[in-house]
Amino acid sequence: MTLNDYEFWFIVGSQYLYGPEVLETVAARAQEMTDKLNASGNLPCKVVYKVTAKTNAEITDTIRDANHDTKCAGIITWCHTFSPSKMWINGLANLQKSWCHFATQYNREIPNDEIDMDFMNLNQAAHGDREHGFIGARLRAPRKVIAGYWQDSDVQKRLGRWMRAAAGAAFSRELKVMRFGDNMREVAVTEGDKVEVQIKLGWQVNTWPVGELACMIDAVSDSEVNALMKEYESLYDMATDNIEAVRYQAREEIAMRKMLDREGCRAFSNTFQDLYGMKQLPGIATQHMLASGYGYGAEGDWKVAAMTAIIKFMTEGQKGGSAFMEDYTYHLVPGSEYSLGAHMLEVCPSVAAGKPRIEVHPLGIGGKEDPARLVFEGREGKAVVVSLVDMGGRLRLICQDIQCVKPIMPMPNLPVARVMWQAMPNLKTGLECWILAGGAHHTVLSYDVDAEQMRDWARMMDIEFVHISKDTTAESLERDLLLADIAWKLK
Ligand code: MN
Repeated sequence: MTLNDYEFWFIVGSQYLYGPEVLETVAARAQEMTDKLNASGNLPCKVVYKVTAKTNAEITDTIRDANHDTKCAGIITWCHTFSPSKMWINGLANLQKSWCHFATQYNREIPNDEIDMDFMNLNQAAHGDREHGFIGARLRAPRKVIAGYWQDSDVQKRLGRWMRAAAGAAFSRELKVMRFGDNMREVAVTEGDKVEVQIKLGWQVNTWPVGELACMIDAVSDSEVNALMKEYESLYDMATDNIEAVRYQAREEIAMRKMLDREGCRAFSNTFQDLYGMKQLPGIATQHMLASGYGYGAEGDWKVAAMTAIIKFMTEGQKGGSAFMEDYTYHLVPGSEYSLGAHMLEVCPSVAAGKPRIEVHPLGIGGKEDPARLVFEGREGKAVVVSLVDMGGRLRLICQDIQCVKPIMPMPNLPVARVMWQAMPNLKTGLECWILAGGAHHTVLSYDVDAEQMRDWARMMDIEFVHISKDTTAESLERDLLLADIAWKLK
């Protein structure tokens, strides 16, 4: 399934009180709204109008069907008229898909001359949406509320961003991650409870032998390598004479793709400490796979591998880019304070400002041959870094707003892709907050998702969410973390 294959079901609340004419009008308008929303170009997925619901049975049946429909990633509800909410309880209590309560109204304006009690009976979203909101609150149901006029493009775009998060939740529940080798020895933050993530997030995280991958690499044919080398040459500048090293990367990519695709895996992790039978740590091989939508995490970090895959799926069709990233080093000059992010090889070229160069350099760790990799600068722009950590008994998703800049120096001897940014609210406070929250050195850096979407996704998955923004202080964050700790223990 791609992002665009997912559908969202539009369920409109009403009741029999108003007579058939009102119900016909509501149904016709719901279809009209659906058609216009679909034609707006602001939604990544299709809205399907399902029902103007008048009874408990209609709602329960529709939600049961939504639960079982693999193409349905969520429901959008709205009350054109008043819809008594006890009739929603049985359906909503069993809802397994994401839910958005769209608090809108068919008409934009109150018509001065036309308004009378008939008009009021037909157009009472302000009334109906409150009854509907209460039952969501009473059920403690995870839901998104989006308020505003349905024809306004900012409202439609917000609905579209929520749809992307909901499709990311659906994708998460099906995600399989292939591990080559274990966690890097002694590292804590990349560890985690694979049973807990499968219960909460749906991820199937399992291991396959590095030896099998090595055999698959050796079995790749020259013609397969030739075809992939053509692709590399069309996308990147060949800035090395060591073509054999690049060809070996192509072999690795072809073999890894075969194994992942055979098992239906959309993300993978590996580690430089377990490359038995392989000549190079995968560099371009991994980078080119990342660019086509696979998730990746180094040093056995399957959590960041899965998050990269999910964020790439959520942002399909967007042009900013999302990459596996690592915080490396700081520039602490007053007035010019930046973080430099990179990795030893595997940054995704979707975030490159220019055409990446293929280079071959020695790699001090891993004890293997010099690996070919893509070298480039990341682009300027607003972005986020996202980290999922295991707090023991619960998962915490941390999202920090950042401003990426053109790297302030060329760093000609740095042989890897690099991105430079200012953390929000500033480097020092942003760093203090990140450390207080326990955020990892591995992140997903994305120019395409925002914190609201990651918050939506975390709510759908029922995990803790921490946002470090321009308004965050270390004091406020510490208090929020303490309260969250208590709340999540009670949950
Ligand atoms: Mn790393």
